Amino acid sequence: MPRAILTIKRQALIDNALSLYEYSKKPIIAVVKANAYGVGMREVSRVLEELDCVHAFAVACVEEGIELRLAGISKKILVLGGLLRGEEKDLLEYRLTPVVSHREHLEAIRGMNITFHVKYDTGMGRLGFMEELIEDERVEGILSHFSSPLDREFSLRQVETFRRIVMSYGRKLPYIHMESSAGLLYRLDFTTHIRVGLALYGEKPAPDYPVELKRVLSLKARLISVKELPPNHPVSYSRSYITSKPTLVGVVAFGYADGLMKSLSNRGFLYYRGKPVPVIGNITMDMTMLDLTGTDAKVGDWVDIVGEEQSFGDLAKLAGTIPYELMTNLSSRIRRELC
Ligand SMILES: *Cc1c(COP(=O)(O)O)cnc(C)c1O
Repeated sequence: MPRAILTIKRQALIDNALSLYEYSKKPIIAVVKANAYGVGMREVSRVLEELDCVHAFAVACVEEGIELRLAGISKKILVLGGLLRGEEKDLLEYRLTPVVSHREHLEAIRGMNITFHVKYDTGMGRLGFMEELIEDERVEGILSHFSSPLDREFSLRQVETFRRIVMSYGRKLPYIHMESSAGLLYRLDFTTHIRVGLALYGEKPAPDYPVELKRVLSLKARLISVKELPPNHPVSYSRSYITSKPTLVGVVAFGYADGLMKSLSNRGFLYYRGKPVPVIGNITMDMTMLDLTGTDAKVGDWVDIVGEEQSFGDLAKLAGTIPYELMTNLSSRIRRELC
């Protein structure tokens, strides 16, 4: 019996993919790196593979690509994170498409019968060629990445740089992609695909997001203890919380090792039957204490961490981080269930 379950709503995932496709009118490269942002790469990919509007998947490294093939995925798999020498054999064996963003990556696939995409750095300052043309008939696509999609002025400059690069190729490429989930706002008229992760999983990438997203994820864990503490009693490590009244303290089987950031200590809320219950005391590795006073909670009951009441984005904001980080921290000990 799992003590924590992440539920993935299949239909909501499908609906989000369809909405993103309808809005952009471009097929999707589904970003499933880092175990699909912690959601579960196998579960997510198998659902998305069935959709006509999903043309390809993107992962961070060759190993993730192999894992995806072994999970039975047969559509194109892009490896975003470049390519080191020694990894090239796996590209052929597992039919992976590398994103080349450095001369060294090109060297690694020299003479190989393989198509690839070329990445351009138009302002991200991470991976990518600057503006040089890669004259190679094996180039199947080119891409760039927004660094600050919520900054319109800067993003539009990136767009113009990328547009110039695309034009300079002078031949029609089957894959031209730049829009990430938040980047979708720019509705580019010269790209062929969108390359999205977060929005598929139902988390809003921008405050006024133009695409209606359905909630895909909910996360819950069970109470392993409920007991009353007297006033003036400390709770958890370092005694950062002291009860001021008789307090019904619940211990939920979910701690920072499961992905609940310690910065949410004395700060976050979980939900018991729709009612917010504050996290009290320091979050510990495997357990978190809650003030359940006024409820009739008992051992074995479920507490909602993410669901109707709060999203990963809400929780991330409280923790001073972004949903990406919170989600990718979800541990493997949480059971993933598709429903
Ligand atoms: C992770 C990533 C994406 C997806 O970003 P979302 O904000 O999740 O849509 C797209 N492109 C690149 C290069 C990435 O690294």
